[in-house]
Amino acid sequence: MVVDEVASPANVQEAMAFLKRRPDALPWAGGTLLLSDDQSWPKKSSVSILDLHRIADFRHVHRSDRHLELGSMVSLSTLLALPKGSLLGPLRPAAMQLGTQALRNLATLGGNIASRWRFMTCFAALSCMDAAVELRDSGGVHWKGIHELVGQDGRPSIPMATLLTRIRLPLAEWDSIATRPLGMAVFPQQGAATFCACARYAKGVIADLRIAIASTVLVRLREIETTLAGKRLPLSRKDVESFCSSLALATRELSGDDSLAEHAAAMSAAYLYHDAEYLT
Ligand SMILES: Cc1cc2nc3c(=O)[nH]c(=O)nc-3n(C[C@H](O)[C@H](O)[C@H](O)COP(=O)(O)OP(=O)(O)OC[C@H]3O[C@@H](n4cnc5c(N)ncnc54)[C@H](O)[C@@H]3O)c2cc1C
Repeated sequence: MVVDEVASPANVQEAMAFLKRRPDALPWAGGTLLLSDDQSWPKKSSVSILDLHRIADFRHVHRSDRHLELGSMVSLSTLLALPKGSLLGPLRPAAMQLGTQALRNLATLGGNIASRWRFMTCFAALSCMDAAVELRDSGGVHWKGIHELVGQDGRPSIPMATLLTRIRLPLAEWDSIATRPLGMAVFPQQGAATFCACARYAKGVIADLRIAIASTVLVRLREIETTLAGKRLPLSRKDVESFCSSLALATRELSGDDSLAEHAAAMSAAYLYHDAEYLT
């Protein structure tokens, strides 16, 4: 692989002008995934690199009454340094478990979302949070729900010649949060996967429940989650088994990985039986 051109634009207009000329350019954020994972590189003999470091707008953090907006180049260390009351929900423990402090200084949230062949650790949390992302392409600026980056086959579907510029997190409080590595593999091994769950309770009843699995596919079953809303804790064995078998089935169908499906069901059961260790 030969790098035939490198651009380091100072602003988003220059970046988009370069992408117009080189729609195949590979955006470079922290570079920590690109440097450790061959599959993140295009399968061709030469590539151009679009370095995003000089674009100050991509590092902004803005909070409104309802949302927290993070530029795609916000590093995971910057994210973790936000005040505790920032309502990062499951994104905080997801970012915390990623690599070492030195790695998190380089790694960006945008780079974690924009992996093209598999979903990385933060994606499971962002799925549970129903985050939104701002994308820029030659047609302009578009806000999309995070699940619009997931194809029908459950795999990443991030359009080419497109920059991820901002991530918008709804501000929400959760009564319980769990973010855990799933299975035996660890990044950068191929089989690494993440489990994320969060829930709100009202007077001992589930008011809102979200569970996501991120690996080569994303599994989030909103229609099954809602069947548990309104149920009193502790959940019955029948309800837990029904949820877990649906999750295992969907995980197996999408990923073709029996072991991942079993781990996903076991972790969900532990969470749904409401083990004290998951309470925040
Ligand atoms: C030892 C080690 C351990 C790791 N552990 C973990 C782990 O536990 N969990 C985990 O999730 N990851 C892990 N990683 C992988 C990596 O560090 C993270 O996923 C990181 O968040 C990637 O961010 P980055 O800024 O370095 O992305 P980059 O490597 O710069 O880019 C990643 C991908 O996103 C694209 N991209 C980046 N920014 C944009 C943008 N703004 N718009 C469009 N496309 C963009 C790139 O073109 C590339 O395809 C590990 C890596 C190493 C080396």
